[in-house]
Amino acid sequence: MSINPLDTEDISSIKQFYVLGTIIQLIVHGDNAEKAIDESIVKLNEIDDKMSVFKDSSEVSIINSKAGISPCVVSEDTYFVIKKAVAYSKLSYGAFDPTIRPVVSLWGINTEHARIPKAHEIKSDMRFIDYKDIISNDKKKSIKLRNEYQSLDLGAIAKGFAADEVKNILVENNIKNAIIDLGGNIYALGNNPDGTLWNIGIQDPIKERGEYVGIVRVQNKSVVTSGNYERYFMKEGKRYHHIINPMTGAPSENGIISATVISEYSIDGDALTTCVYVMGIEKGLKLIESIKGVEAIFITLDKKVYTTTGIRDTFKLTNEEYTYKNKLELEIAK
Ligand code: FAD
Ligand code: MG
Repeated sequence: MSINPLDTEDISSIKQFYVLGTIIQLIVHGDNAEKAIDESIVKLNEIDDKMSVFKDSSEVSIINSKAGISPCVVSEDTYFVIKKAVAYSKLSYGAFDPTIRPVVSLWGINTEHARIPKAHEIKSDMRFIDYKDIISNDKKKSIKLRNEYQSLDLGAIAKGFAADEVKNILVENNIKNAIIDLGGNIYALGNNPDGTLWNIGIQDPIKERGEYVGIVRVQNKSVVTSGNYERYFMKEGKRYHHIINPMTGAPSENGIISATVISEYSIDGDALTTCVYVMGIEKGLKLIESIKGVEAIFITLDKKVYTTTGIRDTFKLTNEEYTYKNKLELEIAK
């Protein structure tokens, strides 16, 4: 996913840097752009320090090291993200599950240790996956994982939270127009400075980065995509990617190769892309249609594009290799 290059003219300030395991790009228009960007970088590093599973000192790593032992008091931010993660686990009947970490580690996708685990290893580590074992205390803001060896991973939701926090910082600095791009997790603030809507390209999941399936035209919206094409390894012609189905302990395989969610808050969009990626087209569309103000675009391996009904005026299919299918066609085909 990326912005239309035309949108990047007349920039007050643009900055690229690396945090949250990804390349971040902030394009900010307005007088306080530099200050707002500096404050955003501080906040993003703070979130990384609190929520990364790649840092032993993070609050999430401390919760993991105390699994089955004792509760950990955490910051408001981490507590908020974990509670949201649990809410989305419930909403998706466990398709989203932040206790997925042991199985994510087993596969090691995007690390030097990436491999196909043995069936018995998956079965063994699946015992530790259950979001219902996240014990929270609202008064103390403490979190405990019920059993030893359980482990949290906020990789499917924390980037969305981070995008919302950056948006808040920009708004506090009186910024009216900006693009916040946290490696595929985009928030489009206001409009393009020329008054037109922001154009966000939806990445073609089987082509080079920068080739699009279509474009969404938005203002003040989060646009988040989860796909099988950024973090994966290939073995004997088969692709093993990083979105794990908690029911099987293996990369989710149901025909979807990219799921985009458009929403007001990016934390919701981030969590929901992972939910619907695992749930599949039919259940995913049904879930998104049931949430007011949220829309979705799904791309399947057989080059079909499905969208929710409310997005027809926002999304334009631009790639002729893909066929537009709607919910009604899906129902008739059944
Ligand atoms: P999403 O679909 O939003 O999330 C997929 C990720 O969520 C997977 O990578 C896995 O971690 C987890 N997951 C998989 N299946 C499920 C499921 N069913 N339910 C819930 N969660 C699931 N990457 C690095 O390589 N190095 C780093 O140092 C690093 N630091 C990070 C620090 C923070 C605070 C965060 C938020 C992320 C960091 N990352 C890092 C990236 C992270 O590991 C994920 O790869 C990334 O967040 C995936 O985001 P996505 O939008 O591509 O996919
Ligand atoms: Mg996600």
